[in-house]
Amino acid sequence: MNEVKHFINGQYVGSANGQLFDNINPANGQLISRVHEAGRGEVDAAVQAAKAALQGPWGRMTLDERTRILHKVADGINARFDEFLDAECRDTGKPKSLASHIDIPRGAANFKVFADMVKNVSAESFEMATPDGTGALNYAVRRPKGVIGVISPWNLPLLLMTWKVGPALACGNTVVVKPSEETPTTTALLGEVMKEAGVPDGVYNVVHGFGGDSAGAFLTEHPDVDGFTFTGETATGETIMRSAAKGVRDISLELGGKNAGLVFADCDMDKAIEGTMRSAFANCGQVCLGTERVYVERAIFDEFVSRLKAAAESLHIGPPEDELANLGPLVSHKHREKVLSYYRQAAEQGATVVTGGGVPEMAGELSGGAWVQPTIWTGLSDDSSVVTEEIFGPCCHIRPFDTEEEAVALANSLPYGLASAVWTENVSRAHRVAGQIEAGIVWVNSWFLRDLRTPFGGSKQSGIGREGGVHSLEFYTEMKNVCIKL
Ligand code: NAD
Repeated sequence: MNEVKHFINGQYVGSANGQLFDNINPANGQLISRVHEAGRGEVDAAVQAAKAALQGPWGRMTLDERTRILHKVADGINARFDEFLDAECRDTGKPKSLASHIDIPRGAANFKVFADMVKNVSAESFEMATPDGTGALNYAVRRPKGVIGVISPWNLPLLLMTWKVGPALACGNTVVVKPSEETPTTTALLGEVMKEAGVPDGVYNVVHGFGGDSAGAFLTEHPDVDGFTFTGETATGETIMRSAAKGVRDISLELGGKNAGLVFADCDMDKAIEGTMRSAFANCGQVCLGTERVYVERAIFDEFVSRLKAAAESLHIGPPEDELANLGPLVSHKHREKVLSYYRQAAEQGATVVTGGGVPEMAGELSGGAWVQPTIWTGLSDDSSVVTEEIFGPCCHIRPFDTEEEAVALANSLPYGLASAVWTENVSRAHRVAGQIEAGIVWVNSWFLRDLRTPFGGSKQSGIGREGGVHSLEFYTEMKNVCIKL
């Protein structure tokens, strides 16, 4: 049986405690591999390797040398594209058609984009007058923050991990990555690519395990980690924030959401349906930026609901290798239990189930997978748990509204503020509504269109800090001001 090991100081190593856990394929419930679970010893070894590497060849490299290596990392992922694709699809169950144009290419691109970005951002300088008339010159320089702890989720494993590791390394830091226990394989595989590309030992380290009382907690409690970047649930973010407070370490948190889509009567209905389909059902609804609350202007409500229903019912449910599949399973049976509990609550709370609401019949070995039906509800009250809590499944609730003010108030009514999608052909309304929505990103007539130079992050309980473009550099570097009296 295939084993997934930690990657520490340039070597694959097993756990000294001999503890391993199962990695299960969510499409059929079968065992993919056994994964080593790090104890405090492995986490400490990874952190010490990362700390030492800051003083080694990595710390002495010129920016050009470092960024050339990061380009090679991207090329290395692309050269082994099919291996990464197979591993990602086995761990997550997602369709290959999706992972081959999002997860893997964007995972590779994160290294090139941030390597190029770092080369092109200048720091600031200020001349100042002094009482003796000679003046002084201030200039800022960026220095790496140090050892960065990267804790990543399972929904877009390679993409979301490299979105942190790319800029962290481009800025000269070293990292210890703790991938999700559900999806450890591509993060482990990246160790080989790093080595082949010439990344010095200790710069990229990986430890596997769970969150509380396991690798995640051991990493965040380790005093020699200088900052943490985390993507995952809001409750986990709060725990990590508490650990990071000890020793006053910096954090960047990309957390949960319960995103609203606002569909106005003056929208282009074809675009709104196509975009809402993707935002509700892509990656089986397991996208933090996805739309689980859809608000539709009353004049077009019935038409919108019936067209979204028809589109949802035309989704092709299937395993990764099925070329027609555009809806895979959920990531695990445990997550399916959570999603199905909301399907039950919706029924108990009196929802009209427009479509779905259960588990599809799957033939043969697929019957052991974590499948659920794409689901649409109407008729729930605004305080229903299904409307206020993040489900992270292929589902949405649709509710009518009458005025623009009401639509904005509904969008802003929850403590989350990650993303929103607005559908209107009225340009004044587009700007007006986008300006009022409390979210880190507002799309108008699109969804998931991402330019990596732009700020990305959540407001309210959806996160702290921004990454992307120069904002990543703000987190992954310490700025130091040098003041020279002339
Ligand atoms: P999660 O919070 O359960 O786990 C994320 C990671 O944190 C995993 O690696 C896990 O092992 C680790 N972890 C859990 N408890 C920990 C602890 N006490 N200490 C240290 N590490 C711990 O999240 P998930 O279920 O993997 O991912 C889904 C969530 O991620 C959703 O809420 C989704 O909205 C959010 N998400 C947010 C963004 C964003 O950009 N804002 C992107 C993707 C996913």
